Amino acid sequence: MVRKILLINTVLLIALITFGCDSATQQETESKPNPVLLISIDGFMNEYIDRNDTPNFDHFLAEGVQAEYLIPAFPTKTFPTHWTIATGLHTENHGIIANSFYDYELESRFSFGPPDDSPNDERWWGGEPIWITAETQGLTSATFFWPGSEASINGVQSTKWVDYDGSVPDSTRIDSVMTWMNPEGDVRADFGTLYFSFVDSRGHAYGPNSAEVDQAVIEMDGLLGYLLNSIDENNLGNRINIILTSDHGMAELSDEKIIFLDEMINLDDVDIIDWTPVALIKPHDGKTDEIYNAIKENEEHYRVYLRDELPDRFRFRNHYRIPEIIMIADIGYTITSRPFYEQRGINAATHGYDNLEPEMLTFFAAMGPEFKSGERVSEFESVHIYELMAHLLNLNPAPNDGNFDEVQMLLRRD
Ligand code: AMP
Ligand code: ZN
Ligand code: ZN
Repeated sequence: MVRKILLINTVLLIALITFGCDSATQQETESKPNPVLLISIDGFMNEYIDRNDTPNFDHFLAEGVQAEYLIPAFPTKTFPTHWTIATGLHTENHGIIANSFYDYELESRFSFGPPDDSPNDERWWGGEPIWITAETQGLTSATFFWPGSEASINGVQSTKWVDYDGSVPDSTRIDSVMTWMNPEGDVRADFGTLYFSFVDSRGHAYGPNSAEVDQAVIEMDGLLGYLLNSIDENNLGNRINIILTSDHGMAELSDEKIIFLDEMINLDDVDIIDWTPVALIKPHDGKTDEIYNAIKENEEHYRVYLRDELPDRFRFRNHYRIPEIIMIADIGYTITSRPFYEQRGINAATHGYDNLEPEMLTFFAAMGPEFKSGERVSEFESVHIYELMAHLLNLNPAPNDGNFDEVQMLLRRD
């Protein structure tokens, strides 16, 4: 008898706990914004979809909204551009001025290749990325790669983040983020990132118009299909807002288009912070005029500026890491030195040029309950994506250079 009462009580207790939990989960889900997934396909151009058979991209664009194109940050290199997307800051305000650069205050070089771990060091990264805005306002973030996601910002990190390892299979990245974003899972992340690099790598090695890039685009289309399936399997269908974008385009290089800096100036008179296609040149004391004049005299197939005369639109003047002379190669040109070129040659293609060069423009599309469906809208600058994400996640944006009005046209009106 006693055992029977105990059993009934236990059943009641379990029912109560289960019921209690269910309603708590329901309440939590109801008060939370729809989750946002930000995806970067490095070095992806609009024309890649137009010239290939890409049923999953086609589906995404039919269901979602596509911008005519996206204007990346300057210089159009992976680290500066991704950090602008994440923070809503122009390069001069976030300080990631190149993929690799020297900082004379920190007396140290920022660089992402192994064994360098500077990306994990908070001191390099100016501004507040959206995943930190989310974490500090009570939401949960899960990043499976994004430049800058390995560093803490003001001591805070995403609930889930991973040290960069390019060998992690792309499907594993998707599986992990989907598990973390599943609203019935353990993490229930509100914000996630994914990053894929193989289209960019193939672009550098074979050029944007190669069969190898086409093959990579078809592989990427397969991965997108895999992701869309996984979204349904993880209870996120109809709820998740997906931003599918990229950091820059890709331009073919040529051995006929080489600018030898060592034939214009004495390299002993300068430090070169970064070489090509935007050379960041720091002349030694008292040498600025001489170096600038020597490069200016030969100005062909590039433009050279004193930092303080660089046109405003680059948003690339106002940071102590930016040196006095900036040289921007014309599209397809390489800035190098003869010994380096003779030893190493050049890639088939690269990026980093003026962010308004047509070849540097890139891809932006979005799909989900908040986005327009089956529409194409005008181009915009990537600096506004932070404001868009803050809006979707109901967050107070940190101070930034973006403007929500510039991206509102992506959203449904109701
Ligand atoms: P880029 O040289 O500008 O084409 O940069 C592309 C490369 O950046 C990729 O192939 C990756 O090797 C590297 N990369 C991308 N994200 C990260 C990251 N979070 N940490 C370290 N390296 C990265
Ligand atoms: Zn890139
Ligand atoms: Zn690249």
